[in-house]
Formats: sequence, C-alpha cells, structure tokens
Amino acid sequence: MLFTGDTARLVLGNGGDSPLELTVEPWAEVHLIEPGQSRVVVTHSPSGDRSWSGTLRGDEPFRVDHRPDAVTVWANGHCFHLTDAEGTALDAEASHCPAQGLTS
Ligand SMILES: [Zn+2]
Repeated sequence: MLFTGDTARLVLGNGGDSPLELTVEPWAEVHLIEPGQSRVVVTHSPSGDRSWSGTLRGDEPFRVDHRPDAVTVWANGHCFHLTDAEGTALDAEASHCPAQGLTS
C-alpha cells in the first residue's frame, strides 16, 4: 500500500570547521555532524492534509533552534528518521511512524 500521509525532509549541513551538535526533539536524540557533512531529518504525519501534530500553526513540519555550536530540530510529525547525505539510516524514533507497516 502507498503511504498517503505527509513526508517532510530537512537537510542540515555543517559548513563550519568544528563538529555541530544536532539534537532531534522531542526525543532528545543527540548526534554530531562533522565539518563538511550533512544529515537529513525526515518526519511523517498521517493526515495527508499538510498538518503536523507537533505545532498549532499548521503547515510547519519542523522548527530549528540554532546556537553557535549546536542546532536543535523539532520534528512536528509522529516520528523521525535520521540519515546521512547518502541516505544511510543512522537513527529513528519510529514506534509511531504512520508510514511504516503501510509500505511493502
Ligand atoms: Zn516515519
């Protein structure tokens, strides 16, 4: 079956010369992005109408808070999936992922 909800992808690149700390909330998962590297955060929503349960403002799949050596990403869907730039899975909190179990 095809997943009929929404998928949002956020690409984060570290253009600096020191490691960047990435925290994915509300799961508090912490990762380091090495200089020159990118990470992709993906989140899913089951609604299919571009609404995201983590925000009251509707069409906002992500919020990003930046500090000098760290960035916090709030994923407003039901789950998150973290990959490197090539798509290799690094981490996930997918116990409530609406896209899993619907694809085969
Ligand atoms: Zn998911």
